[in-house]
Amino acid sequence: MKQADRELECLLKVHADLPRQGPGSDAMTAKAISFVPPLKNGARIFDMGCGPGRASLVLAQNLKTKIVAVDLVESFLDHLSKSAQAAGVSHLLEIRPGSMTEINEPEASIDLIWSEGAAYCVGFDHALSVWHRFLKPSGVVALTELSWLTDSPANEAVAFWQENYPAMRSKEKNLQAAEAIGYRCLQQFVLPSSCWWNEYYNPLKANIDRLAPLASDDTVLAETIRRSKKEISLYECHTNDYGYVFYILQKRSG
Ligand code: SAH
Repeated sequence: MKQADRELECLLKVHADLPRQGPGSDAMTAKAISFVPPLKNGARIFDMGCGPGRASLVLAQNLKTKIVAVDLVESFLDHLSKSAQAAGVSHLLEIRPGSMTEINEPEASIDLIWSEGAAYCVGFDHALSVWHRFLKPSGVVALTELSWLTDSPANEAVAFWQENYPAMRSKEKNLQAAEAIGYRCLQQFVLPSSCWWNEYYNPLKANIDRLAPLASDDTVLAETIRRSKKEISLYECHTNDYGYVFYILQKRSG
């Protein structure tokens, strides 16, 4: 197996079966939904990079409208399919394996695009530019993105994210970029730190503890674990320097 494939395999192993694949909570998804202007009957809604799909479920339950849940990773989609069944909302979900930027839909046909902790995988600006084309006039994008929350973050935090997510920007810069692409900001808010721990870092830590014994003769797994532990301890030390920001953006007409 190629090194890159092994790295992905180990990353998926460390991230297997988490309720979420990034910071968030049902309550914060519901809060963001409350800032979306009323949707018409039959509105078309997509959850891009849905992962195990907690947001898809909250959207389906709150909006009682079909949600198209898109992701590249089949195991995450299987997880969503099972939880949708358990929650009794399977009839409101269309699970679609595929890319969140190669969208097989007519342009200007989508009312609402949701995306928690996923746009960074293709780039915040690129995702917003592509989605702009597929949104109806005045359509809305609600997304979360890792963002600097202070002008003077700790050196250690800067160094880590420079290596792991060099495109990371401040909240203000992300808002400016979104404006330049053709959106106006309806609302934005920072996710509380509980969103990082309860459904993301704590279960991730439990996976790490379970897998740690296997890492003694697996250097790629050992490196994946080392990075994840570093990321978790960095957040513990620098909670106020960076965070996930929910951006609720509306496509500007004209
Ligand atoms: N929204 C989920 C998952 C966030 S992790 C949550 O909050 O739990 C980012 C997700 O984006 C992963 O599930 C990953 O498989 C997916 N992803 C990454 N690049 C993608 C792409 N180009 N198209 C579709 N999904 C993608």
